[in-house]
Amino acid sequence: MIAVIPTGLIFGSLSPRRFTRRIIIHHSASPDVSAATIHGWHLQRGWSGIGYHFVIRQDGSIEAGRPVDMIGAHAGPKVNGDSIGICLAGNFMEYGPTSQQIKSLIELVSYLQELYQTKLEVWQHKDVAATECPGDLFPWSEINQALYGPSGHDNMGGNVMEPWKDELVTLALDKKLISQPHDPDEPAPKWFVLAVGLKILQEVEKRGEKS
Ligand SMILES: [Zn+2]
Repeated sequence: MIAVIPTGLIFGSLSPRRFTRRIIIHHSASPDVSAATIHGWHLQRGWSGIGYHFVIRQDGSIEAGRPVDMIGAHAGPKVNGDSIGICLAGNFMEYGPTSQQIKSLIELVSYLQELYQTKLEVWQHKDVAATECPGDLFPWSEINQALYGPSGHDNMGGNVMEPWKDELVTLALDKKLISQPHDPDEPAPKWFVLAVGLKILQEVEKRGEKS
């Protein structure tokens, strides 16, 4: 059992996440800071509170951020809707994470896999967005091997979203038809309704362009 230190942070309005398929890793791009400090930064940006679900300090302690089942604010609307955000405190453009941080990260990931009873994919922030995060000195291949064995990165066979569903969700989020991704296990009629809704919207837009 891992020890997550409760922080008692007070949040504005949060929405429950319906579907969880991956974990996104970040660095704080700052000195060693607490979840409470980041909470303050994110409140100043007008957010509901810290956007990450966990913060791993340089001594390896894991601090609670946003409640794990709520939608985070760490990697853009689409990714936030299906992921958990973990932030390692430090600036890994200048130095790497401590060995205690790496150990805690690996323990936290396996704890979350158990909690969600699924093989959650693990991504760096820069894998899903145009960013340097979690920094050039973040030892991804080492962590990758610790998580997946010597064969390395295996983001298959977990709680995956088929490509056509992924594409549909991306378009529907973009058009604001939905506010968070569908669970890939939603019944077929729900996917059908989404596809039809998008089609109608696209027809309407086409007509608008012609007139
Ligand atoms: Zn990031």
